[in-house]
Amino acid sequence: MQSGGSFAPAEVRFDDLALSKGASKGIVNAMTVDVEDYFQVSAFERHVARHTWNGFESRVCRNTERLLEIFAEAGVTGTFFVLGWVAERFPMLVRRIAEAGHEIASHGYAHRLIYETRPTEFREDLRRARAAIEAASGSPVFGYRAPSYSITNRSLWALDVLIEEGYLYDASIFPIRHDRYGIPSAPRHPYMITRPSGTLWELPGATVRLSGQNLPIGGGGYFRLLPYGWTARGIASVNRREGKPITFYLHPWEIDPDQPRLAAPFVSRFRHYYNLSETESRLRRLLSEFRFGSAFSLLSSAAVLEAAPAPSSHFAFGYLTTPDTSC
Ligand SMILES: [Zn+2]
Repeated sequence: MQSGGSFAPAEVRFDDLALSKGASKGIVNAMTVDVEDYFQVSAFERHVARHTWNGFESRVCRNTERLLEIFAEAGVTGTFFVLGWVAERFPMLVRRIAEAGHEIASHGYAHRLIYETRPTEFREDLRRARAAIEAASGSPVFGYRAPSYSITNRSLWALDVLIEEGYLYDASIFPIRHDRYGIPSAPRHPYMITRPSGTLWELPGATVRLSGQNLPIGGGGYFRLLPYGWTARGIASVNRREGKPITFYLHPWEIDPDQPRLAAPFVSRFRHYYNLSETESRLRRLLSEFRFGSAFSLLSSAAVLEAAPAPSSHFAFGYLTTPDTSC
């Protein structure tokens, strides 16, 4: 396994995702949700110790269930990257997401930034999360998203760990410049990564190319902080002009304007709290204007995962935990 390195072609080979003919007219984008609570975000990491998480009022169930209602009304099924910590405490929530037809994937266990962990710690975190998530959902996990897109040039070794742990795809590399994450030179569209340990599909964060730069168009903070038209025009451009799908993301706490306010520096508070009351209506509009499906279905549309069983359509592992009705 490699211990680091740059995003150089000699080390990482990219094979662009080939979409089927005619797909540009009705491109189905990936709708993804990172299932975590408002006090677990990286922006508050320095101010909210992990051992205090249990002491906070949890709002992840009600917010995720609200998202399930919104998606059901729009007839959209997507991918929910569930934090293992959440799956352990609220297995019934994970089960409900799966039963609604959504794909269940992993957001890791403890929401640690990958470039601040060692490979052995990352592997343990992955395994603990997967065990909790698969026990709760009853179906296998194929995909992973790192906390705060923290697979960067400093943590490319994480791709090898994901391959060795049997993941089929990753959605953790944002091809932009940002103070906490991003690999600006990484491809903008879904692609296959070839590493010494094997291959892995990558679903990058959504961008448009403007003035020689990759600019993020959604979702998360970009969807809340910037005007709706920025995201909508960006997705339309990528779908129609480039003929490619995008991967959109959001968090359950982003549709919760009444969540408790935490003490943190101004920039973190601005990024987290600004426009929370706008997100739900914006999301409903987005769902009505574009087509969305799961990350797995996006990759399956290119016939790259056809050998693997479809997630959420069956419960191969059975339910391994006692259902939690306190959610
Ligand atoms: Zn997260």
